Amino acid sequence: MLLLEMSKPGRCGYTLPKLDVPEVSLDELIPRSYLRETEPGLPQVTEPEVVRYFTQLSRKNHGVDVGFYPLGSCTMKYNPRVHEDIAALPGFSRIHPRQPESTVQGALQLMYELDQCLAEIAGLAKSSLLPAAGAHGELAGLLIIKAYHKFNGEADQRREIIIPDSAHGTNPASAQMAGFTVKEVPSDQRGGVDVAALREMVGPQTAGLMLTNPNTLGLFDENLEEIAAIIHDAGGLLYYDGANANAILGITRPGDTGFDIVHFNLHKTFSTPHGGGGPGAGPIVVSEKLVDFLPSPIVEYSDGRYHFATPKHSIGPIKAFYGNFGVLVKAYSYIRRLGAEGLKSVSENAVLNANYVMNQLKDDYYLPYDRTCMHEFVLSGKRQKELGVSTLDIAKRLLDYGVHAPTIYFPLIVEEAIMIEPTETESKATLDVFIQTMKTIAEEARRNPEQLKSAPTLTPVKRLDETKAARQPILKY
Ligand SMILES: *Cc1c(COP(=O)(O)O)cnc(C)c1O
Repeated sequence: MLLLEMSKPGRCGYTLPKLDVPEVSLDELIPRSYLRETEPGLPQVTEPEVVRYFTQLSRKNHGVDVGFYPLGSCTMKYNPRVHEDIAALPGFSRIHPRQPESTVQGALQLMYELDQCLAEIAGLAKSSLLPAAGAHGELAGLLIIKAYHKFNGEADQRREIIIPDSAHGTNPASAQMAGFTVKEVPSDQRGGVDVAALREMVGPQTAGLMLTNPNTLGLFDENLEEIAAIIHDAGGLLYYDGANANAILGITRPGDTGFDIVHFNLHKTFSTPHGGGGPGAGPIVVSEKLVDFLPSPIVEYSDGRYHFATPKHSIGPIKAFYGNFGVLVKAYSYIRRLGAEGLKSVSENAVLNANYVMNQLKDDYYLPYDRTCMHEFVLSGKRQKELGVSTLDIAKRLLDYGVHAPTIYFPLIVEEAIMIEPTETESKATLDVFIQTMKTIAEEARRNPEQLKSAPTLTPVKRLDETKAARQPILKY
């Protein structure tokens, strides 16, 4: 039942304190033309009814607090509550962006130190904390690439951004938005960039390459240094999509392998929950030669105080004020709490968990790239497809077993792709239950494929017409 349907005239869920100011009529406060003529038609319900209604709604949702959530390319790991507490401290949550710098030195110090932490993790010089998402970081990075070539008098000539066919869809979209032409480089047999094809593509028209590493197949590119040399020799810059950095923390640094710009998704790797639409943060970190082009403002420290500054050739502001500050606080807390060793163990465990699950499942599901994976891996449901069971059916069946479905049909270069990212915060016991569930579903596909067509049958909402839901959404009562 909807809240509005539970409404009974006269029921009420709140009490207001006695008026302690002189009473004035609404007419005196608000011009008549702005006043509504009828009651707003809000549900009239009691407090327990409201509480039960929303609590029940929340129970219909799957989240990382409810069960396993192996959504590939999304890093749905458990985010410790203590970081929420820290972000909620009044000194962080009750300050105003227009307050004088002298009164918010602590907040500025946090931004300054987070910048240094991210620079250390990336192996690069300085960051901008402004971008609100991964895609926003990509756009900022690409505008820097453009500004850099313009500064060198090559903007008219260097118009092409090269992107592998395994890339996340935001990469070509961001390049297009920044005014570049996108060239797609194919993947080779082992799932990395086809180096020979790349060599053919570069030239004086090359502005740069956007590479995701580990890529969306969960594979570490074995030819990183060669790729970097090809692009740099052609005069281009190297952009690293570090949205999913869960495999590399403290183990390898993009800057050390030649990359010029990196973005991180704080809402994937650094302890901000996501999936509900934000807020997030996608800071970028750049090499020494690009620091002057960073968006404004950046935080600097001189004469014993922190202050905002504008880099010399800045691409300008790209976000209101200073980015999504609460997300920055959580990332800072996470990094400082774990320290260098802790971050490294995050990645070691993320990689170990993914390889464990991959090896347990490769007899039941086709594994297109059978080599050591990083924080995630991609199976193919093509064997099940031959039995009449699609990857969508498998994903829906998982919901019946209380598991969030993996990412499916992505990356595009794998037929019937099933992209699984267990993350480091799951125990072996949880992974074993998931492995057993996937094996059970493979068995069901062999024995009773029809059963999977109607899944899910145990969830509050059964199988949806997803096309219709997207094309004709009903968004209000
Ligand atoms: C999530 C993701 C992005 C985009 O990040 P948003 O915050 O959703 O804009 C880019 N690249 C990769 C590889 C990703 O997984």
